[in-house]
Amino acid sequence: MTRTAALIVAAGSGSRMGGALPKQFAPLAGRPLVAHSYVALAGHPAIDRVVVVVAAGQQALLAEVLPDAVVVEGGATRRQSVANGLAALDGFDRVLIHDAARPGVPAAVIDALLSALDAADGAVPVLPVPDTLARGGDRLGEVVDRATLVRVQTPQAFRLDAIRAAHAAWPAHEEATDDAQMLRAIGRDVMTVPGDSALEKLTYPGDVAAAEARIGGAMVSRSASGFDVHRLAEGYELWLGGIRIPHRLGLAGHSDADVALHAITDALLGTIGAGDIGMHFPPSDPQWRGAASGRFVEHAVQLIGARGGIVDFVDLTLICEEPKIGPHRDAMTASIAALIGLDARRVSVKATTTERLGFTGRSEGIAAQAIATVRIPLE
Ligand code: MG
Repeated sequence: MTRTAALIVAAGSGSRMGGALPKQFAPLAGRPLVAHSYVALAGHPAIDRVVVVVAAGQQALLAEVLPDAVVVEGGATRRQSVANGLAALDGFDRVLIHDAARPGVPAAVIDALLSALDAADGAVPVLPVPDTLARGGDRLGEVVDRATLVRVQTPQAFRLDAIRAAHAAWPAHEEATDDAQMLRAIGRDVMTVPGDSALEKLTYPGDVAAAEARIGGAMVSRSASGFDVHRLAEGYELWLGGIRIPHRLGLAGHSDADVALHAITDALLGTIGAGDIGMHFPPSDPQWRGAASGRFVEHAVQLIGARGGIVDFVDLTLICEEPKIGPHRDAMTASIAALIGLDARRVSVKATTTERLGFTGRSEGIAAQAIATVRIPLE
């Protein structure tokens, strides 16, 4: 079984794009730049682990936006940062090395790169050069034949042992332009596959607006609902919205029976027509017994990300006679926002009773309904 990891290099400290935050944490279409490639890579079925390399002191920033990401501390240079990431990948066969400044990662590019590794130690996405190229200076110099040139993008894919050998062999005090050049320097082949304009690197402040226009221009908004019920019973913990609420009764059922997160998961899955929670996490599968339901939400968000989608808003209504939701509303909102990777202002938590009518009125159970709104690329 071939195991594949992805390494996102997000260790820059500069804010060339004009904001106060390092570029990789600056917002793009409502979420930090690094989160865009993270969800795309983590959601790809062939990728088993995504590791994010951040600069010293940025771990807390990353944990805030991607609480579940595996984090490695980078070094003084990009090359050292990649080397630190590679050192953390024991047990893997292949690695995709990606720059956080390239937010879109089409699944088709990942597929092509990994296929190319069947025949070579490395592969890179490339695009043709559309402009005339010439030598510069005060006066225009001679034209360079652009037909023989390509623009090299990331992710760059490698057999792990080969790229580790390339890093080990590279002169300690020289910087490399990218990892593919290091692999070539030890005499290995690097194949090219078609790149994609979605992978353009964001460098200057204007690039963000352009990328948002590229994302926004081809995106459509979709909403979907989710509904769930769990039984209230003695002897269980009560988890709602990812937080534990001290109460005389708890919710019984599959996983931790967090009815709120189950409804939200189904709403998120609904936006991309990806079935329901039971299809992804069957109640009959013992591995989900007692599981924290936040995993289900994160999985749905990753699936949306893999489709190039962005979650815009989630609205939740809890229907119960007890417990009182008001005192826990802020904590629940913050918990749900963190699971989805949203600002808390984009999560709404409401509660109602059924006037003591029906099973919720008799406190036999809690019902939850949710609506999720996402933007996804027009198909
Ligand atoms: Mg359920």
